[in-house]
Amino acid sequence: MTQVTVKELAKTVDTPVERLLQQMREAGLPHSDAEQVVTDTEKQALLAHLKGSHGDRLEEPRKITLQRKTTSTLRVAGSKTVSVEVRKKKTYVKRSPDEIEAERQRELEEQRAVEEAARLKAEEEARQKAEVEARRAAEDAARRQAEVPAQASAPAAAPAPVVAPVAVPVAPVAAPAAGDERRKEGEVRRPPKRDDEDDRRDRKHAQHRPSIKEKEKTSAPRVVRSGSDDDDSFGRRGGGRGKAKLKKRNQHGFQSPTGPIVREVSIGETITVAELAQQMSVKGAEVVKFMFKMGTPVTINQVLDQETAQLIAEELGHKVKLVSENALEEQLAESLKFEGEAVSRAPVVTVMGHVDHGKTSLLDYIRRAKVAAGEAGGITQHIGAYHVETDRGMVTFLDTPGHAAFTAMRARGAQATDIVILVVAADDGVMPQTQEAVQHAKAAGVPIVVAVNKIDKPDANPDNIKNGLAALDVIPEEWGGDAPFVHVSAKMGTGVDELLEAVLLQAEVLELKATPSAPGRGVVVESRLDKGRGPVATVLVQDGTLRQGDMILCGVNYGRVRAMLDENGKPIKEAGPSIPVEILGLDGTPDAGDEVTVVADEKKAREVALFRQGKFREVKLARQQSAKLENIFENMGQDEKKTLNIVLKADVRGSLEALQGSLSGLGNDEVQVRVVGGGVGGITESDANLALASNAVLFGFNVRADAGARKIVEAEGLDMRYYNVIYDIIEDVKKALTGMLGSDVRENILGIAEVRDVFRSPKFGAVAGCMVTEGLVHRNRPIRVLRDDVVIFEGELESLRRFKDDVAEVRNGMECGIAVKSYNDVRVGDKIEVFEKVEVARTL
Ligand code: GDP
Repeated sequence: MTQVTVKELAKTVDTPVERLLQQMREAGLPHSDAEQVVTDTEKQALLAHLKGSHGDRLEEPRKITLQRKTTSTLRVAGSKTVSVEVRKKKTYVKRSPDEIEAERQRELEEQRAVEEAARLKAEEEARQKAEVEARRAAEDAARRQAEVPAQASAPAAAPAPVVAPVAVPVAPVAAPAAGDERRKEGEVRRPPKRDDEDDRRDRKHAQHRPSIKEKEKTSAPRVVRSGSDDDDSFGRRGGGRGKAKLKKRNQHGFQSPTGPIVREVSIGETITVAELAQQMSVKGAEVVKFMFKMGTPVTINQVLDQETAQLIAEELGHKVKLVSENALEEQLAESLKFEGEAVSRAPVVTVMGHVDHGKTSLLDYIRRAKVAAGEAGGITQHIGAYHVETDRGMVTFLDTPGHAAFTAMRARGAQATDIVILVVAADDGVMPQTQEAVQHAKAAGVPIVVAVNKIDKPDANPDNIKNGLAALDVIPEEWGGDAPFVHVSAKMGTGVDELLEAVLLQAEVLELKATPSAPGRGVVVESRLDKGRGPVATVLVQDGTLRQGDMILCGVNYGRVRAMLDENGKPIKEAGPSIPVEILGLDGTPDAGDEVTVVADEKKAREVALFRQGKFREVKLARQQSAKLENIFENMGQDEKKTLNIVLKADVRGSLEALQGSLSGLGNDEVQVRVVGGGVGGITESDANLALASNAVLFGFNVRADAGARKIVEAEGLDMRYYNVIYDIIEDVKKALTGMLGSDVRENILGIAEVRDVFRSPKFGAVAGCMVTEGLVHRNRPIRVLRDDVVIFEGELESLRRFKDDVAEVRNGMECGIAVKSYNDVRVGDKIEVFEKVEVARTL
């Protein structure tokens, strides 16, 4: 039994303690102090007492007034609008039985008076009719008398008896007719269930009951209605009768549904609130209301996951059919024929290892030494993969920043790597990232070839490395294990051939096979948006052959391969297994790790791509929403681990993935880092919104925010930072995590000018005709050139002019001519950003 004190009870019922004590005394309870305990029995006693004393107050209300106000907008002549407000008021008065009786009496009297008047009128009419007929009969008789003068005396009295029988029945005929009508009405209006009281009244009052219409009319002084046709709940009995009458009058086929209609609702992996409502044939607002009552506020466009949607539909009494949405994909997979003779293919290799152990140097050396000669003139192409020919065969390298790319691809289910080359510096030894690389390779089941690098260094100690790696279960072949250890010098090129040989030996063991005659299949290594060429994707063909002109499906993107370039930027017509190529012609930039498939026709490709886009967006949305909830919990639990959320945008996918990997790896016992969103390209409005929603900081690596994003950042006070060195981001985050952010140099953007035209000047080269769109453009400050919000050049101004005059600064809204020092590739649409460096205290 629960016991509370008087004070607590007073709080629960929202009454001052003194008042409650007073009431308790009145109820005969012994309580006199606020701290005294009230038992359940005492509570009951108090309640009974209160009910007694407030008896009349607890009665139902005698009068209810309902008010409703609707506002609508009326459009009149042109674009003028007028708000129209309609107020409706409806008052219902509950009447006592006596009142109802008195009213009934009065109605009855009125009715009787009406009937009496009708009767009198009928009698009068009958009398007049009788008179007319009598007169006519008399005339007839007179005529006949004149015709037969001999019989004149005998029928002279005849007209009188003729008149009488006609006149007399008139009144009785009229009276029964009225009575019949009354009885008929009485029957129709009789309610289905009647109590004795009703019967008695009926007998007493001549079988007459007013219909609902009459009743409303006659009780007009009490029922105040104005322009509303709402059902009235107080006059239920009358309403019922009215309906019964209506039914009898209109005996047609329509029957209003007697129970709720159960519908079959098909729910895919996700469904929006609006769609769900539509399938259940209810208004979207109903579902929103229902979910609100369940404690989940949603909007009409919100995406629900299958489980939630099912719960709602079932709760509302509908049948649910769960549908697999992958039918389209399955169809596609079936339509792809993958036949032909399998032949061995070249291994695909990823180079991993600790920072500064020589990964880049090794890849560079191999590339320089092995990539087909004749490409001199500088390989400026930024391509994430290349292949090299050796005497023993071909090897393909995935030249992306090590672990990040490896795991990112694996996370998307793409196993692109056959063999891992683990670079360990002989003068250093096994380091944390070495260990990490081993873990990744082992988790993916990829064999490791160890490159013991910097063997040229005097302090090189290869045995130390053997020991260190053996401890990680990478056992050297000469110790009976399966990992070849090759001593190399990426600087001198020593041992590189042996390394490649070891890789190819491993490949032989793996028996890598592919079917070149089949349609091409592969994986996206990286992608970017090229201003002139559109979306460019580096694809590693894994099986089959990819040809120019093929229709391909690539994650959520699709398109026809307009052109293919090899790693040296040379156009090629086809690419077989293990060959990396750059392809042009996609409708967007796919993600690294996205699967690439050649599809028979464009229609199918578009269908599947669109379907994937929709699904991806919805799934992402659903995830975002749930992530938001998690955040709430995270922020609530003060003792728990705090999270630093980051939204990260970068200029190229390689940097993005490297940063994502490095940032997510940071964190300590108290704080964790989570990259909640990221992508290639400028910071957009949706990025800013994501940051806002997930309480994240925004990082732009070599990219800038567009106007929409900046507006949100400013309005919401988001933390947005631009960087151009990976190390700086990581250092900042590290410092933020350890609470060590001191003062540092930060950049302030002073002004932005948009290039509207480009002229050639003999003195300065390209001169950009610009409009200053923001702030002030200063002559003597550092600048950056941005194309599509991505930084393409950093430097300073050669000259700043307004109408041939050199000026020190140009304001927002003014035109000017700008020449950038040692940069001639400025184009229309580029932005020139002027910035300064200031020292500020750092807070993240
Ligand atoms: P990464 O961070 O693993 O890509 O390492 P880098 O390739 O950037 O190399 C880091 C540093 O080590 C650079 O200064 C290289 O010149 C140097 N280095 C790389 N390989 C060798 C080598 O075989 N011998 C010597 N002496 N130095 C090397």
